[in-house]
Amino acid sequence: FDQLDGHIWMNGEFVKWADAKIHVLTHGLHYASAVFEGERAYGGEIFKLTEHTERLHESARLLGFTIPYSVAEIDDACRDLLRMQGFSDAYVRPIAWRGSEMMGVSAQNNRINCAIAIWQWPSYFDPEQRLKGIRLDMAEYRRPDPRTAPSKSKAAGLYMICTLSKHAAESKGYADALMLDWRGQVAEATGANVFFVKDGKIHTPKPDCFLDGITRRTVIDLARARGIEVIERAIMPEELEGFEQAFLTGTAAEVTPVAEIGQYRFVVGDIARTLMEDYMAEVQPKRAVAAE
Ligand code: PMP
Repeated sequence: FDQLDGHIWMNGEFVKWADAKIHVLTHGLHYASAVFEGERAYGGEIFKLTEHTERLHESARLLGFTIPYSVAEIDDACRDLLRMQGFSDAYVRPIAWRGSEMMGVSAQNNRINCAIAIWQWPSYFDPEQRLKGIRLDMAEYRRPDPRTAPSKSKAAGLYMICTLSKHAAESKGYADALMLDWRGQVAEATGANVFFVKDGKIHTPKPDCFLDGITRRTVIDLARARGIEVIERAIMPEELEGFEQAFLTGTAAEVTPVAEIGQYRFVVGDIARTLMEDYMAEVQPKRAVAAE
């Protein structure tokens, strides 16, 4: 990734991709004092940009720091960089972290840095597998109790268990892993939220210890707009047996049908397929039609 081309926005300036470097004694690297976002641009516009930037600010607040650029400044930087990179469809990655001025658990006076990178990331899961439904393993690690970590923050440190779980799944030939939470309830995949379908109704876990994804909320609205009932509740892993369809949602994953989770099997059904299409229509820029 450090070989890609173009520019990166870093602390208010556009720097050449190869020159966007930080020191090895960066606090964010040693102690995971970093928060980030994942966004997608479609047709030259970043979908729900301000919602993502507000979440970035909130994630930082939960980690006890303030990003020295306003939501509007970061939004503008994302838009300017997208134009500079020359992409119409792309992935946008803002990140904020504590710098290298002090070394140790305490880093009260370290500079808060902020950067944005934009690159092309057409499909999070293999496109062919996606249409057939991807295969998920059951993860070994569980989402932590909100009293153990600020679970509402999109904090780099919380992704340590996600990478471990995803690597373990991939080494067994799975695309991803389903994580339970500390209570043993179904939580989410390593970078996406999870939904199930039974008797024409959608069931999804309550996001009380993991990210309430922006895609998750969008898809719930799209389902309700079609008159499909969406039930947010605690789901136990044994219940997977009774569900007919399953799918993941996330900025990178978009809506991805799931065919298999551990011992359980699902069909790529009408509701998953309809919501996949509705989501792809929803993310397209809504340009006002000029009056004749
Ligand atoms: N859970 C995790 C762990 C994630 O990394 C993501 C992706 N940001 C999501 C859920 C989905 O969030 P969103 O729809 O806002 O991208």
